[in-house]
Amino acid sequence: MKSKHLRLISQIAFFAFIAIIAVNHSLTEIGRGLGFVPELSLHAICPFGGVATLASLIMGQGLIRQLHASVMVIGSAVLLLTLIFGPVFCSHICPLGSIQEWIGKLGKKIFKNRYNKLIPQKLHNILKYLRYVVLVLVLVQTYRTATLMFANVDPYYALFNFWTGEATIAAISILVVTLIMSLFVERPWCKYACPYGGLLGLVSKISLFKIRRNEATCVSCGLCDRKCPMLIDVSKKKKVTDTLCNRCMQCTYEEGGCPVDRACYNGILNAKQQEEAK
Ligand code: SF4
Ligand code: SF4
Ligand code: SF4
Repeated sequence: MKSKHLRLISQIAFFAFIAIIAVNHSLTEIGRGLGFVPELSLHAICPFGGVATLASLIMGQGLIRQLHASVMVIGSAVLLLTLIFGPVFCSHICPLGSIQEWIGKLGKKIFKNRYNKLIPQKLHNILKYLRYVVLVLVLVQTYRTATLMFANVDPYYALFNFWTGEATIAAISILVVTLIMSLFVERPWCKYACPYGGLLGLVSKISLFKIRRNEATCVSCGLCDRKCPMLIDVSKKKKVTDTLCNRCMQCTYEEGGCPVDRACYNGILNAKQQEEAK
């Protein structure tokens, strides 16, 4: 089975899992919970909550109200996964990333070659740093208030709570704008606003596995650039260190993003090291 099929199965499974947990949480509150589903709130399985909690603990503020100790375990597991494989949480697990990608598939059908070209590259190169502005604001506000302030504007929280009355109007509005934008721009929230994606992108700078290009066999066709949803110039790099790369693998030979075997691949060793290891 190709890794793109495994990725899709993983995305659907995690989306369904979080949706069932969220629906069951609502049903439990009216005494109709599904007995076979664990009673969890979204706050108990939010990996970003783990990061915010860690920051809060380090700065001596203690645990954040609303959050459970389980988020520390989940947050640490995602960080470890990222240190090894890069931000695969974003490409394989996160339901908000998945739903943007699925809407994007419809956008590609409608707009064909014009899809994902709405924002000029120069503007994109500036906007992609917005994630870090949001990350700093979220951590500062979380520290100051010891509450997960981000939930008030978090489209992920809104996606699985829009029917409960717990999601704010602001969060639901941001979700709707994100989903509409996904018809024109691939993963707009991931690219320009998500603080968690920004953080995982930073961690991935030192990840073991990276997307690499073999300069000796590359024929400079540029297909990898055109395939990349995050607008990264893969064909100009020896290895991709851009924090936007979520390891979706769409640029690689294995996924049909490169026509030359081993010219664009996900691995630990560069092409020269691979030759020497033979
Ligand atoms: S960038 Fe944020 S919203 Fe996008 S997939 Fe990653 S964690 Fe999810
Ligand atoms: S560089 Fe490759 S793996 Fe990274 S986001 Fe672009 S297509 Fe996906
Ligand atoms: S798709 Fe492959 S051969 Fe074409 S530019 Fe990218 S790495 Fe080189």
